[in-house]
Amino acid sequence: MRVFSGSLATETNTFGPMPTGLASFKDRGYYAAGQHPDHLTLFSGPTWAARLRGRPAGWTLIEGMVAGAQPSGTTSRYAYELLRDELLRDLKSALPVDMVLLGLHGAMVADGYDDCEGDLLHRVREMVGPHVVIGAELDPHNHLTPAMVQSADVLVSFKEYPHTDVLERGLELVDLCTAKAQGRIKPTCAVVDCQMIVTMHTSRQPARNFVDKIQSMEGKNGVLSISVTHGFAWGDVPEMGTKILVYTDNDLPLATALARQLADELIGMREQLTVNYPDMDEALSSALANAGPVVISDGADNPGGGAAGDSTFFLHKLIDRGIRNVALGPLWDPIAVRIAFEAGEGAVLKLRIGGKISTLSGDPIDLLCTVKALRADMEMTGLTNTPVALGNCALVESAGIQIALISLRNQAMGADLFTNLGCQLEDKKIIVVKSSQHFYASFSKLTKHVIYAASPGSVTLDLKTLDYRKVQRPKWPLDLSSHSHF
Ligand SMILES: [Zn+2]
Repeated sequence: MRVFSGSLATETNTFGPMPTGLASFKDRGYYAAGQHPDHLTLFSGPTWAARLRGRPAGWTLIEGMVAGAQPSGTTSRYAYELLRDELLRDLKSALPVDMVLLGLHGAMVADGYDDCEGDLLHRVREMVGPHVVIGAELDPHNHLTPAMVQSADVLVSFKEYPHTDVLERGLELVDLCTAKAQGRIKPTCAVVDCQMIVTMHTSRQPARNFVDKIQSMEGKNGVLSISVTHGFAWGDVPEMGTKILVYTDNDLPLATALARQLADELIGMREQLTVNYPDMDEALSSALANAGPVVISDGADNPGGGAAGDSTFFLHKLIDRGIRNVALGPLWDPIAVRIAFEAGEGAVLKLRIGGKISTLSGDPIDLLCTVKALRADMEMTGLTNTPVALGNCALVESAGIQIALISLRNQAMGADLFTNLGCQLEDKKIIVVKSSQHFYASFSKLTKHVIYAASPGSVTLDLKTLDYRKVQRPKWPLDLSSHSHF
């Protein structure tokens, strides 16, 4: 069997303040054909899974480009077309192949392309013809467009949020595509649009039970795979929203009926799925009333959702209220890091921190800081133990608040983003993390007390403030009363 793999992945926040260009891919992960390192990355699931499955089976695996960018604003047309065409060239030179396995995100938007993955998968199909199996692994925060579904034989999304199952879903994708290539199954799918947009934290109920249930249905009674598209609310494209995708083995009526049934169940639980977000002051007061450490998610400044990661709203609140014994981070400020490195460990200096990218980052804050620690080219442990580069990092302290400053924009995933800098978390009263949910896998080992706060920022949780132009309406909760039901 000849198998081709590759990746082109990012999640585009069309409201985000910074464009996504080539540097965004190079910063996070860009590997030319055959150059992917010997470990899993968050966007290389199919390549890694194909290595694991292909070696014992004696496949010829041809690895094309693997590229993933930290989520940000709309991708430049130049960057998208250049990387897309590189991946397509890699595929062309690998032909003939039996399978094409791609690591995509599913919510990439570029200038002139509302549906990058639909465009890419369509071009792949045109190139390989109708009989080659095409499979892609997606992030559940995708837009699942008709062009994507029609061009691929199998699409599998991560089930967990935080996304701790990149490898498991990658292996499932490879196994399903292999079975199709060998003529053992005929994947037949149905999609139901729930006409809503919800958050599905699988660390909580009722999302946990729902995911466990659909997982237990797979591989039985003709059901091959079930994926839930949570949707990505900060991508203003027509197809944005929550959807159910069911693959059966050559049974369209079953796929259609099951997708409808699961969509109705999900619609029925949308009120319970909705997170109660206190504002910043309520979140801080609630945290102070409890034994520490309490983790507060500053999700509106989550770089994983396309925010800058340098907002100062929480930092201003903490200073104003005189709250001490706090860790906050990661805060993206390469200029402040550079100055801290110039000053050296132990230095006390005035430092202007954060608030640099746009009004969505708030105002910069000027603090008299002590440089507690400096680490060059530091990494944090990402989901599924993938290494995540943070660049040069500094831990600075002011007024009882320790701030982890980073030079490569990233959200909080591993708690080692703090501890690698010598910041002890166990005895902190409050830990403010710039992340919506991926922090949970690691930080929940430290404390179960987590508060998801409604702060201002590029990934604002108040969706009604977003100036949607393209999203198909109506869409709950933007338009509909809570009693409406489809
Ligand atoms: Zn995601």
